[in-house]
Amino acid sequence: MEQNDLEELDFLIVGQGLAGTMMAHFLLQENKRIKILDLPMRGRTSTIAAGVINPVTGRRIAKSWHFEVLYAFAKKTYQELENILGITLWNDRNILRALHNTFEENEWYRRGAFPEYEAYFEDSADLENISSKIKPAHAWGEMRHCAQVALPELVRSYRRWLQRQGLLLEEKFDYQAIVFQDGRVQYKQFSALKIIFCEGARAIANPYFNFLPFVPTKGELLILKIPGADFEKIVKHHLFIVPVEQWNGATIPHLFWAGSTSRFEYADELPSEEQKRNLLDKLEKTLSVPFEVFEHLAGIRPTVFDKRPFSGVHPSHGQLAIFNGLGTKGASLAPFFAKQMADFLLGNGELDKEVDIKRFLKNDG
Ligand SMILES: Cc1cc2nc3c(=O)[nH]c(=O)nc-3n(C[C@H](O)[C@H](O)[C@H](O)COP(=O)(O)OP(=O)(O)OC[C@H]3O[C@@H](n4cnc5c(N)ncnc54)[C@H](O)[C@@H]3O)c2cc1C
Repeated sequence: MEQNDLEELDFLIVGQGLAGTMMAHFLLQENKRIKILDLPMRGRTSTIAAGVINPVTGRRIAKSWHFEVLYAFAKKTYQELENILGITLWNDRNILRALHNTFEENEWYRRGAFPEYEAYFEDSADLENISSKIKPAHAWGEMRHCAQVALPELVRSYRRWLQRQGLLLEEKFDYQAIVFQDGRVQYKQFSALKIIFCEGARAIANPYFNFLPFVPTKGELLILKIPGADFEKIVKHHLFIVPVEQWNGATIPHLFWAGSTSRFEYADELPSEEQKRNLLDKLEKTLSVPFEVFEHLAGIRPTVFDKRPFSGVHPSHGQLAIFNGLGTKGASLAPFFAKQMADFLLGNGELDKEVDIKRFLKNDG
């Protein structure tokens, strides 16, 4: 293709899950010329995630990394996107957490006594409206300052918005078509300053960034109808039960997201009968009312070795960048670290050492 026929861009983004959506949002805020190339592929996760933002996680009930900063920035960003798209994304929801034994109960009270945890622990769990639908537990705790973000709706709605602006191309990226040229990068009809890869777990097929220690995990979930259930809190018992107001653009009453499984080893990206059984067994132990399975879905999380995002540029091809590694916490990590990455690419800031992919390079100084 002749140089004159090329469309000049600042950035070409590959992948429009949560990572690509956030990169596009912050670069467009700076009036950058962008295009996004995305082919919805099997295993993508943003369109199936619950979008729970949880201040404390795990058996040890430990506070999530940088939670205060990430939470405040996430709330502001999703609200900006709500204004652009005209839809509701952010839902403040408390999490009711079942404590299964004395160890968990003690851990709950022990943590709650630390000043930095105080803001997140209700004095007692309020099970009104829920206890008749859920099986009893040893004890319950309730967390506040949690949220649920409608990630599937965000990605779908932002896609349509991009399409209306003529900014999205629905095609598979071909790594062989990259041409490096005078400090820029050419890809088919485009000439860009940089290509930013946001391919989720598919990044393991990217020949430029497959040196990064991705450890993808497969997750499966069920979308349920629980007739008569109208609770707004998130329940974490043998699995998460999360109210979802909308699914695939439709408002459906009594709809809940139930999941999820986590497997390092898997044959493919498809929902499996084995894991459906596993989810149904957990639901039997969690729900005391009948339910109907509406959908069974699976995706591959872009989980990584050290549980920190992957941000940065390729060590020898400065025209190639990556924003990935959102793992199990994309809803809270993506807004803050996409903004940081956008500022870095525009020369307006630095990357945190903990997220910079330089951490995996020898002699990174
Ligand atoms: C069951 C489950 C539950 C989850 N629940 C939560 C939760 O409650 N809270 C939370 O914070 N996180 C949750 N997550 C994690 C969350 O989904 C991820 O952190 C986040 O969505 C990852 O976004 P991404 O954009 O990196 O990847 P993806 O959403 O997978 O997006 C990547 C996109 O790139 C496209 N693509 C890839 N390669 C190419 C190519 N070569 N050419 C063109 N297009 C390409 C893909 O088709 C896809 O559209 C959950 C994940 C799973 C699986």
